[in-house]
Amino acid sequence: MKSKGLLFVISGPSGVGKGSVCAKLLAEESNLRLSVSDTTRAPREGEKNGIDYSFITKEQFLTNVKNDAYLEWAEVYGNFYGTPKEAVERNIQTGTDTLLEIDTQGASLIKEKRPDGIFIFIAPPDYSTLESRLRGRNTDSEETILKRLKQFEEEIRRMPMYDYVVVNDDLDGAAAKVRAIIVGEHQRFANTTVFADLFSEDDKL
Ligand code: ADP
Ligand code: 5GP
Repeated sequence: MKSKGLLFVISGPSGVGKGSVCAKLLAEESNLRLSVSDTTRAPREGEKNGIDYSFITKEQFLTNVKNDAYLEWAEVYGNFYGTPKEAVERNIQTGTDTLLEIDTQGASLIKEKRPDGIFIFIAPPDYSTLESRLRGRNTDSEETILKRLKQFEEEIRRMPMYDYVVVNDDLDGAAAKVRAIIVGEHQRFANTTVFADLFSEDDKL
């Protein structure tokens, strides 16, 4: 019997390295798929439509909101971002682990709707490292960088709702820790299919 996929929610401050950690995980874990969010922000150099994000107009985004197409959505730094509901549910039902890389407000909303999700906060070693990563990425204007840094304290205050905290000091080390979390979560009794015929779903609660 094939088990359902697990839902992993990765968030943390902008520039902490969420995208970098997720890229490593996706390259190494064959049963893990990224949920591609919709966004109204313009693509950055090198970003591909349908792979990094689905880049859509504000009008289309608001129509999707009206049609209840998002598991959660949020306005982040002046742009809209949303997690398409259908793709996430389809992955999970077909046994594929699903990775959401979203901001901390989005993670709070997912926690209400999907308490079975596994919530991982990626933290910087310190504030100045975060600042230098955001600047070093060279993708955002000074105004955008300052907007993103201003959110830091609020994001840190949301840390207690997460199941795990991984400090992204060394990228390989941080990705290895998240991979260990994925492996560990699959060994939980609630997620096992070993001798499944002996147990009902209620036994697993
Ligand atoms: P986020 O997705 O959280 O906004 P990114 O993955 O875009 O962050 O990373 C921001 C910048 O920091 C990028 O230039 C990336 O190459 C760099 N970076 C990520 N992780 C590390 C790390 N552990 N050490 C040094 N630089 C890193
Ligand atoms: P960026 O513009 O740097 O790609 O993303 C800005 C922020 O939006 C990041 O913190 C990123 O994780 C978050 N984000 C990306 N997709 C979604 C989404 O679907 N929902 C929410 N709430 N946040 C998202």
